[in-house]
Amino acid sequence: MSNSISSSTAPTPSFYGLDRDELSARMREQGLPAYRATQLFSWIYRKHLRSSEDMTNLPRGLRGSLGAICDLALPHAASVHSTPDGSTHKFVLELRDGRRVECVSMRAPRRLTFCLSSQVGCALKCSFCATGLMGLQRNLEAHEIVAQVLAMGDFHGWEDARFNLVFMGMGEPLANYRSVMHAVRILHEPDGLNLGIRRITVSTSGLVPQIRRLAEEGLALGLAVSLHATTDELRDQLVPVNRRWPIRELLEAAREYGERTGRRVTLEYTLIAGVNDRPEDADRLSGIARDLPSKINLIPYNPVPGLEWRRPSPEEVEGFAQRLYPRAPAVTVRHTMGGEIWAACGQLGGLTR
Ligand code: SAH
Ligand code: SF4
Repeated sequence: MSNSISSSTAPTPSFYGLDRDELSARMREQGLPAYRATQLFSWIYRKHLRSSEDMTNLPRGLRGSLGAICDLALPHAASVHSTPDGSTHKFVLELRDGRRVECVSMRAPRRLTFCLSSQVGCALKCSFCATGLMGLQRNLEAHEIVAQVLAMGDFHGWEDARFNLVFMGMGEPLANYRSVMHAVRILHEPDGLNLGIRRITVSTSGLVPQIRRLAEEGLALGLAVSLHATTDELRDQLVPVNRRWPIRELLEAAREYGERTGRRVTLEYTLIAGVNDRPEDADRLSGIARDLPSKINLIPYNPVPGLEWRRPSPEEVEGFAQRLYPRAPAVTVRHTMGGEIWAACGQLGGLTR
């Protein structure tokens, strides 16, 4: 009786938000053997089927009634935008409530990377970010995060068995901690996509308690910290969450994360001309990197309509990078991908051209 009440009131959960144990439990509730969950995981995540009609080792009756156990529908891609060189694609997915979320695939010579969103919009309002300008509309659910991976994988035909995931799209992943971690575990499921934890990077603007919580998970996820400034005075302006957790506390949490997981954290530093790209900024940044086992990733500012910031010239970026040596030898400059379609870092926010 209680079963029929719950099934008539609760909406059918999305398949993509269930880990294997949760799906097994739902199967058992319906009087089905738990191994059906393993079979379904394999069809969806390994053979990439999207319709139960084609799942030949499931009994015909179950193929027809699966919809009552879990919903296999994926969000529809309202549009896909591609750069002229075909390396970068931006996907605009329409969610069940009509809201839209964007995610981006990037192909470099030996690497396919999927950039995922964790929220529609963002509450943290960093002063140079298009997503921040939207404000927070809502958190994504785990299934809406997993669906982004499937949308991009299906588009690329799953020809790359190995790809990397970065939570560097819309939103602050650690502000939607539970759903992000649930999605990570579903993507890591050995009977499913079996994606290596080390292939996944979470980028945070600096939510210190959640960085600490992440360090306790026992998962060696990559962590990227959006530093962007070397004094609290400037960082308070650029990344307002700094007023709550200033640089010293953030770097301490980053250090603990590195020690607990054995992974070097990445310090992201968006270079804005005349704002944080002076020689003294480089000197303070290299001092920070000398004291913290880390890699520095310089991101030349990507233009956002309505914002007045300016990107330094390639020579200025190179000069800044050079000045970081030799105290901070692990420096990379993020090669901008997707600027032509408003898909580069910080440009996701409903913009099209
Ligand atoms: N919310 C997460 C992920 C954001 S996107 C975070 O803030 O870390 C990944 C990186 O792009 C972050 O370091 C972010 O600060 C940076 N970014 C945001 N807007 C940008 C812009 N217009 N140009 C370059 N980098 C930007
Ligand atoms: Fe939010 Fe990150 Fe953009 Fe800041 S940079 S507003 S935290 S998405």
